[in-house]
Amino acid sequence: MALETGLKKQLTILGSTGSIGIQALEVVRNHPERFGVEVLTAQNSWDLLLKQAIEFQPNAVVIGNPDYYSRLCDGLEKYPVKVFAGEDAISQVVDMEGADIILNALVGYAGMIPTYTAVSAGKRVALANKESLVIAGELIMTEAAKNGAFIIPVDSEHSAIFQCLVGEDPRSVEKIYLTASGGPFRGKNRNELEIATIDDALNHPNWKMGDKITIDSATMMNKGLEVIEAHWLFGLTPEQIEIIVHPQSVIHSIVQFTDGSMKAQMGVPDMRLPILFALGFPERIPTDINRLSFLEYPLLTFEQPDRELFRNLPLAYQALEVGGNAPCILNAANEIAVQAFLERRLPFLGIPAVIEKCLEMMPHIQKPGLEDYITTHHQTTEKANQIISEQLWKY
Ligand code: MG
Repeated sequence: MALETGLKKQLTILGSTGSIGIQALEVVRNHPERFGVEVLTAQNSWDLLLKQAIEFQPNAVVIGNPDYYSRLCDGLEKYPVKVFAGEDAISQVVDMEGADIILNALVGYAGMIPTYTAVSAGKRVALANKESLVIAGELIMTEAAKNGAFIIPVDSEHSAIFQCLVGEDPRSVEKIYLTASGGPFRGKNRNELEIATIDDALNHPNWKMGDKITIDSATMMNKGLEVIEAHWLFGLTPEQIEIIVHPQSVIHSIVQFTDGSMKAQMGVPDMRLPILFALGFPERIPTDINRLSFLEYPLLTFEQPDRELFRNLPLAYQALEVGGNAPCILNAANEIAVQAFLERRLPFLGIPAVIEKCLEMMPHIQKPGLEDYITTHHQTTEKANQIISEQLWKY
């Protein structure tokens, strides 16, 4: 694994038109001497992808939805940018030579096979797609170790833990605390959550993010997924991973060591910081991003998450304990339930109810391979849709 310093690095950004992709390109725009763009990909946003391609002049672009292929080709006619289309092309560009870092900013299950392909090719992966590790963490970490690939987290909590662990012996870690803002429904009661609307759920107090992760924050499934992500990234048991609600979101996470000492990583809640760290590591690249002013945060507070109201938290721990394909089932059920909530086919509290039902009903596989994960995902998707349309869930 090459970690040369001072060299310009070429990036492949999967999902360049999403929230993380756009912020990553802002980082590239501000540091042209450090980063260049090799490949950009988008699912449907061909017009933004076109603008990005004209500005950053990558070697290639991929549009997942082939319906937009000809429009993209027309727009890039005068430029030396190759254009590909289709879901398969996204996985294929991942192991192209020329990219030093693959930033996986895809949302949900769609990111899993590209992560697997990238680590199989021994690439350095800046991972924003936490679902990759939730679905197939064991397989991806094994494959990464086998091929000398290096996964560096972009998720702010995991970036914080990674930063706290630099220079430390992993055996000296006693436990970690993943901080959670608590989302827009912190402190609410069951009656309030029963009638929670999409607008309420999308109104996150501290972070500006895409719709899927914002709903995941409101249900606290985001933190559940992050527990599973941390398990695989840092080799910790479920008992070593604790969630603490910290509404100000300036402590991004904490490591507690065997001598009783603790290290926390802090900063303003701005995703450009963990993106820049992941792309620049082992260097810290100077920026003018806002500095945290302690006087603006005279009070930092901490509380226990409400595990009875936010049932996704115990469900995520349960899936992690059961292991095998259980986290894959959890993730697939969550993706369908969140989509149904956004389409007004499922109430807010129906989300964990659908996930619980899927965990009960789907067959368990203790040692899944890649094909088993793909099958589990698709079968759970079908099952979750059936549970929602036939109203088989209850809370
Ligand atoms: Mg996070």
